[in-house]
Parts: sequence; structure tokens; C-alpha cells
Amino acid sequence: MYNVPICVNFYIDIKKKKAIKIGKKIINILNENFSGNSESIYKINTTNKQNISYDQSYIEKFITNENKTELSKQIYSYINTNSNTNIKFNLIKTKIKKTKISKFESNVENLNNKYIHINIINDIKFNGLTYMPWFFQNNQITPQIFISYYIFKKNKIKTIIHEMGHLFGLFHTFDNIDNCHQIYKLYMGDDFYNGEYLKSNDRIYYDIPSQTTCMYLNPFDLNYFQLNDKNEVTNFCNYMCYNEDCVLTHFTQCQINIMIYFIEKYFKDVIFKM
Ligand SMILES: [Zn+2]
Repeated sequence: MYNVPICVNFYIDIKKKKAIKIGKKIINILNENFSGNSESIYKINTTNKQNISYDQSYIEKFITNENKTELSKQIYSYINTNSNTNIKFNLIKTKIKKTKISKFESNVENLNNKYIHINIINDIKFNGLTYMPWFFQNNQITPQIFISYYIFKKNKIKTIIHEMGHLFGLFHTFDNIDNCHQIYKLYMGDDFYNGEYLKSNDRIYYDIPSQTTCMYLNPFDLNYFQLNDKNEVTNFCNYMCYNEDCVLTHFTQCQINIMIYFIEKYFKDVIFKM
């Protein structure tokens, strides 16, 4: 089990009591999803769809392709996958910063590098942002993610899971595969070729059907499942795509391997194995 100490910094006008409450909520969300206990898609009320059993026959209604059974099995397996990463988060501190930041880089040097920092800000145009792990190789910057306060209001809280995925070395499921491979080769060296991390040449992660574009959707609501050029359903339940929170349920085993690899490689001073 990897133990991740977290400090949540608020660069917004907020009362201490509320800040602590949000800090705890963030840790709960992280631990639920990284431990494989994410809220089941079965329990979630997507738009006007309550008490629906997402079995194969239900799913087939959404598929126009003649290969219905095969595709519905893929979809069914995605929505039934949860994953335990063996990464656990602990809230050590919540801090209310007096400054408001628009250029967040300028504040980096003030952060204690005994923690992974989650910075809550509101004057930004994105949901979340972070560095990839190799930025921390010389300990020049503090490991951190940036989260818009806005995500708590518009049901995009799983952005926190997604950004942690980036921080631990994961790309998007829709990123340019060749570029990703080049970068992994660079930072994994021989491990890239020898390890269990990436087993196929044509995907970022061998166990994710690659997406051609990002989607921002809930396929059940839109009545549309994207297929890639191999006629596979893209994994719309993966934390590393842009789909709606209500359908996001897991990292794949290959993604978990990659995260552990980079935690071991770049975060040894912060994240301890218990
Ligand atoms: Zn992202």
C-alpha cells in the first residue's frame, strides 16, 4: 500500500470550517475511487434514468452496429470494472492562503515538499491541471495539482482523480499514441521494453481501446458509443478520458502499473510504501 500525504491549499476566500470539510471530501473521493469502491454506475441516476438495470439487453438497445452482442459485452465489462490501485491518500493539512493566484507557478516555492499539494483556485478556465511526474525528478518543484473550485458546483469532482492520474504518469485515453510512447520510452528507458507496463505497440496502454477524440459525454444519455478504428468501443468509464463523472469507474491494470512505476521512481521522498 502506498501512502500519499496530502495538503489542500485554498487560494479562495473561504472559512476554515468549510475548507476542512472540503479537504475531507477530496480525500474521501480520492480513496473511494483509488480503492475500487467508486460509486457503482448502477446506482447513479443519469438524466431521467432511475432504477435501470444496465444488463446486456439494456445496453444493446443503444447500439446500432450489427455486432451488437460483441459490443455490448465490451461495454458491460467496462461498467462492471472497478480497480484497487493500492494507493491511499491521507489529509495532513488544509491551508487557507491569503494570496489569490492567477499565475500559480509563482507560489510553488512556498510549498512544503513533504506533501502532495492540491491547490484549489477559482480564477481559471480549466477544471484541473498538473505536471507529469518526470517534472519532479530533480526535486525542483513541489508535486501538486490545481483544481478549479468550480468542479464542486458542477459535478466534475472526479477531475481530482483524473489529475492524480496525470501526476502519477498517465496520459489521456485519447492522446496521440506515438507521442505518448516516445515519452514513456524516454522516462522508462529499458523498463519500457522489459516491463509489464505497456505490452502492445499500438496502444498507450495495452488494456485500453484507444479513443480517437475526447468526448465529454455520457454515452447512455447521448445514445451513442464511440468506436475506434478497430471497431472496439472506446473505454468511456476510464478516469483518463473526459466523460461525465457518473460513468467514470476505474483505472485499468496497466495504468495502475504505470502509476506505481512512477511513484517508485520520482516520489520516493514523499510517498511511502506501508
Ligand atoms: Zn487530463
